[in-house]
Amino acid sequence: MLFVLKKNVTDDQKNHIRGILREGGYIIREMADNENVTIGAVGRKPENIKEYESLPGVERIDRIAANYKLASRQFHPKDTIVQAGGVQVGGERITVVAGPCAVESREQAFTIAKEVKRYGAVLFRGGAFKPRTSPYSFQGLEEEGLKILAEIREEFGMGVVTEITSPSKADMMMKYVDVVQVGARNMQNFELLKCVGRMGKPVLLKRGLSATIEEWLMSAEYILSEDNNNVILCERGIRTFEPYTRNTLDLSAIPVIKNLTHLPVVIDPSHATGIREKVRPMARAAIAAGADGLMIEVHHDPDNAMSDGPQSLYPKQFGKLMRNIYVIAPTVGKQVDFSYLDKVKAGKDAIHEGKMDAESVAFLGEAGTFSHKALTQYFGKTKAEVPKPSFKAIFESVKTSEAGLAIVPLENALTGSIHEVYDLLLEYDLKIIGEMTLKIEHHLIGKPGTKIDDIKRILAPPQVLEQCAQFLACRDDWELISGEATAVGVKKMKNNEDASIAAIGSREAAQIHGMEVIEEGIETNPRNFTRFVVIGVNGADQGPYQKSSIIFSTGNKPGSLFDTLKVFADNGVNLVKLESRPIHGKPWEYMFYVDIETDIASEKYKPVLKLLTEKTDFLKILGSYNL
Ligand code: PEP
Ligand code: MN
Repeated sequence: MLFVLKKNVTDDQKNHIRGILREGGYIIREMADNENVTIGAVGRKPENIKEYESLPGVERIDRIAANYKLASRQFHPKDTIVQAGGVQVGGERITVVAGPCAVESREQAFTIAKEVKRYGAVLFRGGAFKPRTSPYSFQGLEEEGLKILAEIREEFGMGVVTEITSPSKADMMMKYVDVVQVGARNMQNFELLKCVGRMGKPVLLKRGLSATIEEWLMSAEYILSEDNNNVILCERGIRTFEPYTRNTLDLSAIPVIKNLTHLPVVIDPSHATGIREKVRPMARAAIAAGADGLMIEVHHDPDNAMSDGPQSLYPKQFGKLMRNIYVIAPTVGKQVDFSYLDKVKAGKDAIHEGKMDAESVAFLGEAGTFSHKALTQYFGKTKAEVPKPSFKAIFESVKTSEAGLAIVPLENALTGSIHEVYDLLLEYDLKIIGEMTLKIEHHLIGKPGTKIDDIKRILAPPQVLEQCAQFLACRDDWELISGEATAVGVKKMKNNEDASIAAIGSREAAQIHGMEVIEEGIETNPRNFTRFVVIGVNGADQGPYQKSSIIFSTGNKPGSLFDTLKVFADNGVNLVKLESRPIHGKPWEYMFYVDIETDIASEKYKPVLKLLTEKTDFLKILGSYNL
């Protein structure tokens, strides 16, 4: 049952309702949204709604339609983000778990951990207790394997995921692991489900070989009903009549699950396909379909693996996959963050050392702008937010340590570089320490209940009106009003009594101000991405990094640009961006902005840097960082 409480409910009334439900043996959870407080109550007895409807403070009671209650979206409308081994599963960051099928030795596990971490995995997997079809197959290293996993966590800073096969192993597991996996063969082992529920650790619950989605969610319900909300669902292929793959990956489970439950879902294409070369395509499809993450088997020597070698990726293939999904994720509003573990570590260290300055981030505009969205996608909700009215004010705030860091847009896929930001990077002595790409999607936003035909005027910044020109051209009766940032327009529209005004902005802007998206994705060109960079006073500390940004100018002599670019070519440095920009006060002289796929500040590239210094009149390294 969902007890929707009256807006003016008192604390005494709430406590009274809670007390009665507790006495009735109900599991209760309280939730608050913008409008109402709701108490969800789930129990084993038949529900007598009439009995409770007249309780003071109760507005109405809704029945939860699904058989699974705590796992249902109706019970918990917002997405659950599970904290697992220092990282989040769910939300806007893709979480990738990778490692071998089984921990075979310390050396094997360390070799693979080093590789998967390098390529962007944030959690390490490896079985220590293996549920094998044949009793004669390798059954895992048991406690010795768990000890190796614990060492991996210490050494690499990656949380570890491993399978539990029996409640009798729970105490042992508690000592060593961050996430307990319930394997496909145990999905309906109800004693085990209750046990992992009570363990309180995050649980990765695999879908059973022949389980329906409803049965899978009922298994999740077992764990949730033990007061453990940290459940990650994992689709790993189901058994069908098709023999070409080991199982059949049910990708359509992703949107179904997203609709039915608030729990995050990750996809395991390794067990789903059972064949190495099928893993990457299915992993890419999973991200495109909206999965929150992936679980991938990786082995450096799969021919000699003790289990699941044929489906294990070589580390390099895993690296390629990570780069593929880095590109796909923004198209579905998510990010693959290659410096996530560094951030987790830096966050912890900063708190540990009492350095709280890096805990605030300056950004342009206000909550609901694309800069704000970039901030929350890059940092999660872990930083204090410092809104600023201009790029200059942002750079000043970092220089003066009012903010520890800032996030600023550097270029847009359709409109090119944001020169003001480049000029400020030249002027201020700040360093780029990270980057991220955000898909820019514009929505037509109105007051709740507004129909498209009610609209007469539209508020948006000029460049946004331009980006949506095709959609807007269909309605020549609309008056277009140029305004400030999108989120500001949405706020103005909300506060204006005129019901015929709409605004254009992000989904977040609509949500923050309680407004409604009337038409989504109205930008003319859907390939609208903006690249943001994170800047700070100090550069990122540990390298080597994947990328560097530099600015240089050359003398006004024939061949001088060619000579400089030759340094890159001769040393195998890949240029990913080259752009010229006039130098202030020196007509017809130019600065060059260059991005290279190398850590130019690293030891290895010292000679290259020296050559570049010789060939240029001016050279500034804006920063070395990860994608
Ligand atoms: C595994 O993850 O190694 C495993 C045994 O998976 P599943 O339970 O999905 O077969
Ligand atoms: Mn396996």
